Amino acid sequence: MLEPDLRAADPAIATLIDDENRREHESLRLIASENYASRAVMEATGSCLTNKYSEGYARKRYYEGQQVIDQVEELAISRVKALFAKTRGKGEGQDDLHVNVQPYSGSPANLAVYLAFCQAGDTIMGLGLASGGHLTHGHSVSITGKYFKSVPYGVRRTDCRIDMDEVRSLAREHKPKVLWAGTTAYPRALDFAAFREIADEVGAILAADIAHISGLVVAGVHPSPVGYADVITSTTHKTFRGPRGGMILCKKEHAAAIDRAVFPGLQGGPHNHTTAGIAVAAHEAARPEFVQYAQNVVDNAKALGEALSARGFAVVTGGTDNHLLLVDVTAKGVTGKVLAQALDRANIVLNYNAVPFDPRKPFDPSGIRIGTPAVTSRGMGRDVMLMLAEWIDRVTAAPADDSVVAGVAAEVKALCEKYPAPGLRL
Ligand SMILES: *Cc1c(COP(=O)(O)O)cnc(C)c1O
Repeated sequence: MLEPDLRAADPAIATLIDDENRREHESLRLIASENYASRAVMEATGSCLTNKYSEGYARKRYYEGQQVIDQVEELAISRVKALFAKTRGKGEGQDDLHVNVQPYSGSPANLAVYLAFCQAGDTIMGLGLASGGHLTHGHSVSITGKYFKSVPYGVRRTDCRIDMDEVRSLAREHKPKVLWAGTTAYPRALDFAAFREIADEVGAILAADIAHISGLVVAGVHPSPVGYADVITSTTHKTFRGPRGGMILCKKEHAAAIDRAVFPGLQGGPHNHTTAGIAVAAHEAARPEFVQYAQNVVDNAKALGEALSARGFAVVTGGTDNHLLLVDVTAKGVTGKVLAQALDRANIVLNYNAVPFDPRKPFDPSGIRIGTPAVTSRGMGRDVMLMLAEWIDRVTAAPADDSVVAGVAAEVKALCEKYPAPGLRL
């Protein structure tokens, strides 16, 4: 008898996956951390590799039967290494880069950095959540803020950019063990060379968390931390366009500490199906089309920022260098949450977000965050960004008017028909 497929075996889940497929097809997905993985990435992720246990690292495993898995992991590592080796500006060879592709996601990758370099109670520094930093860089609700002494730095009031003078003076005062350079809601490029100088001055490990921007970094459209940071962490599912996962790159001298922290320090068996998906994504990211993709992501974000500014929206820092925009919508007479929820009903999906020095609460803040990675994966360009600014403007003016919202929703849906997204089955 033929083994039943998903629809026959579990119609409830099959139908829900159909529904999500349709939602991802019919909406403009602008959550800055999201993307569309290719069909090839999803095929690798949905493969028999999910069946295999392979605790340890290639050629040093605890169970037998690793003839294939070792090759999968080594291929993923060599492809990731090659991608990042060509981003460096500091003239070292790729030989001094070590890569670990086993972290289950971005947050576990960051925990591995703490486990490799810190003891409980040590001081660490990162960009505060309210300024665009990540929970795992020492926020009080995260284990990283509970087990370590967290000293957050912020952005300048005058221009909302990271204040490197503040970073330096806090670092001198508090002597952190680890200094994080990485962001989750910050529209400007990071100055890794300046972070390196500060880390050197105070003897800190410089950890670059490029979860959001790794695709831009390997494409050369954002400065690379390679050659500056002691350790680099990233997700693999944001601008990198791979499966949901994580990776760590570090200098050779830290290889053993990082590998031990990931396994056996934090994790058990690696997710080999994800490792294969990362290998496929790295293969795709090595193609010239990916460089063009990353450039288009940034060009689209800039075009959308200009179009929104022209319509009177308060774009934080006045624009963007990367794939995302932060917009303070207070002057438009709405809150971020009201607007994000109205836009969702209009098939425009983004998230409400605090803006720097936000007087409102994080669960009901003043702004929205808009990212272009997913819409750019569908081949959308400048003309769509101009339309999008108009649609956002229309919904902002009447977030409670059902006919306005429904009108925009229909227009968005019609547009989406013309831009099939990678990976979806319709
Ligand atoms: C998304 C993100 C992470 C966490 O990734 P998860 O895969 O959600 O655990 C870590 N750091 C930064 C800067 C991020 O943006």
